[in-house]
Amino acid sequence: MLKVEGLSKIYKDGTCALNNVSFSLQEGEFVTILGKSGAGKSTLLRCINRLVEPTEGKISLNGEEITGASRSRLRALRRKVGMIFQQYNLVKQASVRTNVLTGRLGYQPSWRGFVNRFPEQEIESAMEKLKDLGIGEKFHQRADRLSGGQQQRVGIARALMQEPKLILADEPVSSLDPGTSRTIMEILQHINRKQKVTLLCNLHLPELAREFGNRVLVLKEGRIFYDGFPADLDAEKIKDAYGSAS
Ligand code: ADP
Repeated sequence: MLKVEGLSKIYKDGTCALNNVSFSLQEGEFVTILGKSGAGKSTLLRCINRLVEPTEGKISLNGEEITGASRSRLRALRRKVGMIFQQYNLVKQASVRTNVLTGRLGYQPSWRGFVNRFPEQEIESAMEKLKDLGIGEKFHQRADRLSGGQQQRVGIARALMQEPKLILADEPVSSLDPGTSRTIMEILQHINRKQKVTLLCNLHLPELAREFGNRVLVLKEGRIFYDGFPADLDAEKIKDAYGSAS
């Protein structure tokens, strides 16, 4: 469903963050991306939804090219791709309800977003998603009153409001304690298995990447260092990946 071919990113200051990266995702996969800080994980996800403009290469989603897509096409393509962030990216002073509903903004005229009037059906859908994630009672609370784990659930509910085919999760648990991290990873696994959403998830902890990925991609200095089953990713390879990279 996703095809990345020869992707490179050189930032304006000359930093080469990605160097000729190629891989494909099949529908329904849960692929974790592992690599030490600075390996290029975040740049890769951001190139996929073009928050970062690739320097070279081609990315396509279900046969349609994302790279080079016009603004209006890009907007349509982005609707199919949900994004989950390390720092949740919520509007802190806004309610949980508003934050979750902003996931639908791509679907309706923008004035509705501004005056905060959403169709009843979407409000119900937002509530349902929060209930499924175990925080239905937080619907009217301010987002910044929630714990980290709860805020990330709001971020997940917001992504689900798009009814995405693919979710890109950029270090979704690195701001959370180990117990909460597990819970969030289990939620993502559930979404992958039950709702058949393809997952591409950056992580920096090898244990989590191996446990939750059906397949692991390891990045080292902007290149793919490993692409395969978690079981074949042994301690030696992980040590190599984390070893000399700057
Ligand atoms: P990771 O997510 O694996 O930590 P990143 O994709 O954030 O890696 O970064 C890869 C490399 O690109 C690093 O060397 C980082 O410093 C650099 N980088 C990231 N964003 C920018 C930017 N906006 N401008 C210049 N260099 C950047």
